[in-house]
Amino acid sequence: MSEPLTCDVVVVGAGMTGAACALYAARAGLDVTVVDRGPVAGGTTGAGEGNLLVSDKEPGPELDLALLSLRLWRQLAGELGDLVEYEAKGGVVVAPTPDGLTALERFAAGQRAAGVDAVSVPADRLPDLEPHLAPGLAGAVHYPQDAQVMPALAAAHLLRASAARLLTGTTVTGVLRGPDGAVRGVRTDRGDLHAPAVVNAAGTWGGDLAARAGVHLPVLPRRGFVLVTEPLPPRIRHKVYAADYVADVASDSAALQTSPVVEGTAAGPVLIGASRERVGFDRSLSLPVVRALAAGATRLFPFLTHVRALRTYAGFRPYLPDHLPAIGADPRLPGLLHACGHEGAGIGLSTGTGHLIAQVLSGKEPGLDLTPFRPDRFPPRVETAPAPPEAR
Ligand SMILES: Cc1cc2nc3c(=O)[nH]c(=O)nc-3n(C[C@H](O)[C@H](O)[C@H](O)COP(=O)(O)OP(=O)(O)OC[C@H]3O[C@@H](n4cnc5c(N)ncnc54)[C@H](O)[C@@H]3O)c2cc1C
Repeated sequence: MSEPLTCDVVVVGAGMTGAACALYAARAGLDVTVVDRGPVAGGTTGAGEGNLLVSDKEPGPELDLALLSLRLWRQLAGELGDLVEYEAKGGVVVAPTPDGLTALERFAAGQRAAGVDAVSVPADRLPDLEPHLAPGLAGAVHYPQDAQVMPALAAAHLLRASAARLLTGTTVTGVLRGPDGAVRGVRTDRGDLHAPAVVNAAGTWGGDLAARAGVHLPVLPRRGFVLVTEPLPPRIRHKVYAADYVADVASDSAALQTSPVVEGTAAGPVLIGASRERVGFDRSLSLPVVRALAAGATRLFPFLTHVRALRTYAGFRPYLPDHLPAIGADPRLPGLLHACGHEGAGIGLSTGTGHLIAQVLSGKEPGLDLTPFRPDRFPPRVETAPAPPEAR
């Protein structure tokens, strides 16, 4: 690049979040450039599933964002539905034991009060919803609002619909500042891009990008494996998971957690999750994890015992310590905005995030209170001096 390209906003990251930010910013009339060091959806977006869930969220800011996002997904489905494989399939959360069902019903009651459709399903009605579920479950809650998209297709089609300038294979190496200290653009390995606003949509690498801008944002990778079966005729109608999944999602532990999550896809393969562990960016196959996923899935759907698993893959959810994403302007650096750290819900939450970021970029009052998502809410890491020997 000779003359630096100039635009209104540079979005760093062409995953689902960056694509949604680009779409809503462009629709707000801004000239947008999206930069990614790899291809579109080459990060976690290409390594996850595409559930758009309210069922796993307790009342609070994340659920509010999920409800907003679902409304926006439904609008987009009217425009792009088949292209992104949008399916309003609904979710079914099952409780294996009576105690588990009591806890699940309590959780669902709180969600109903917050605007979620949650329908109790007694054990004898479960076969109506899912005929192939294991017998003996205590009951379930049906969440008709849960839906699904194909994440890589969704990112690509939102980017296309945005008509934003897209620079793939381009790594952002720094954030440029003007004489007043405010953001002036980014430095890439292929030249500078000038813009008064930069959106950090770098997912699990959002902490690294923040550090390049001189601010602290502790995004960590939380690894998850997905087991993919051979294509099957449709037998699993909803996203089906066990109630203990919700506790796993909310856990702060770095240790391995697995809970069965099973869903069919439009193309036929069944996707089986979910595992969570913090092991850095270690991509090596873990047989114990994959075995635990298979065992959990066959407990829920015994017919899967006779189905072949074709492959497994891993991805790294962008984890922030309080399980909420960072969304909005960074008060520490004018012109820097963050849209990252959505952990295991970034596909679902992307539309709401993009919409809110576009509102901030256009100087409008955001439709949701962004205080819980403030990017500067994490105290900077304090390097403590080693204690003197007598104090150890
Ligand atoms: C196993 C698994 C299952 C999941 N299932 C679901 C689900 O069912 N529903 C759901 O909502 N979410 C799910 N998730 C989570 C979801 O996939 C993520 O939250 C989401 O993909 C994050 O998207 P993103 O765009 O923020 O990040 P990414 O998709 O990772 O995109 C970030 C992009 O930034 C780019 N980048 C980083 N640094 C730079 C740089 N310096 N210069 C240029 N480019 C850079 C990267 O190349 C990458 O393409 C799952 C995740 C996993 C691992």
